[in-house]
Amino acid sequence: MNIERRRITVSGLPVEIVRKGIKNLHLGVYPPHGRVRVAAPLRVSDNAVRLAVISKLAWIKRQQNRFESQERQSVREYVSRESHYYFGRRYLLNVVEQDGPSRVTVRNTTALDLHVPRSTDKSKTQRVLIDWYRKTLKAAVPPLLEKWQNIIGVNVADWGVKKMKTKWGSCNVKDRRIWVNLELAKKPARCLEYIVVHEMVHLLEPHDNDQFIALMDKSLPQWRLLRQELNSAPLAHENWGY
Ligand SMILES: [Zn+2]
Repeated sequence: MNIERRRITVSGLPVEIVRKGIKNLHLGVYPPHGRVRVAAPLRVSDNAVRLAVISKLAWIKRQQNRFESQERQSVREYVSRESHYYFGRRYLLNVVEQDGPSRVTVRNTTALDLHVPRSTDKSKTQRVLIDWYRKTLKAAVPPLLEKWQNIIGVNVADWGVKKMKTKWGSCNVKDRRIWVNLELAKKPARCLEYIVVHEMVHLLEPHDNDQFIALMDKSLPQWRLLRQELNSAPLAHENWGY
């Protein structure tokens, strides 16, 4: 597909324009710092984009302020009583210092007990929690692949979990491999499912074009709601181009 990228400045605001074969102009503001991106049909001029941005300036500022305050909230100390999300639910961290291997256990639906050796520093404590997120996310993916390979009719050759700064998921069409963002361990499971489906559908249609959207509508009709949920849920401080 023909894609053109440009940068313009509107009222002091840097705006990235991506022109491609789509029907409607789409303006988005993305975390963590409120980057403004406009996806526009090929024939829409810079001036038309400029006008669209100006008409939405107040909204853009509101989104940017929201991201800034979310980012401030996201600094974590890994101490008891701190809130951490796990599959969309908020838990209070409970750091238990004791001998033996480090581990995390979920207590009721309220607490994450984080067992670590005495005097473990913040970065090691964080490591224990991240490793646990990775392990539980890795356990959640295979049943989804199995379910959706039949429904969508594609075969995923390989998959993995990794930290990504700008995307919830990605795929390599040639190798039939998909990646999901580690951060999805904090989001509702239905959001993980949406990203898995999104990346699997890309194995049929690599671009986010009309054909892709038609396939998403057919496979997972409520995908727009899930995308919205994903992009409005509390963020960690990386961001998300979905
Ligand atoms: Zn996509």
